[in-house]
Amino acid sequence: MTTLAASSVQEVSTIESHMIPNDSIVVFDWDNTLKIVNKETKRIESRVNKEFLRHLIGERGCELYVISAIRPSQMNMDTLLMEVDRLGLRNFFCQNSKGREKGANDFPWVREGNIIICGYNKAEVFLTLREKDMSCTDEVDCADDGHLTKRPVVFFDDEAENIEKFSHIVKDSLCYKIEG
Ligand SMILES: [Mg+2]
Repeated sequence: MTTLAASSVQEVSTIESHMIPNDSIVVFDWDNTLKIVNKETKRIESRVNKEFLRHLIGERGCELYVISAIRPSQMNMDTLLMEVDRLGLRNFFCQNSKGREKGANDFPWVREGNIIICGYNKAEVFLTLREKDMSCTDEVDCADDGHLTKRPVVFFDDEAENIEKFSHIVKDSLCYKIEG
């Protein structure tokens, strides 16, 4: 039996600062994780406030991603961005955006900055794009095998299957399953 690097999985009901180490790369799922629907008003809301995201980037040195399992298409990306904009969150994820990009290395994806849609291959696409962004010349971020080692990776998702996959594929990641 092979020994998998020990990622940690925890079930939580809120997203809080102490769960996220300094300098982390933080990956949020979108539906029912960062975006929630207020049961009374039926309007969409962000699970965390902007101050929190600003704090993660500004004081804690984190880099933030949204990775959604919705099917990668231009129209789905437009819809997702409309929601992101309605909540006023785009700047937290698109600071270094090169505009709309798409690709299909092994798995198809569409991205706008750090907002990515890619079906259920979240972990694979995350590693592929991260390595592409870094060109793996940055020793702070990439190890010999191309996997991220030096910066903690934190993953929030409300679906057990996504958590399971991410925790296995992204070594040493801190995975938080949001209670539904
Ligand atoms: Mg979800």
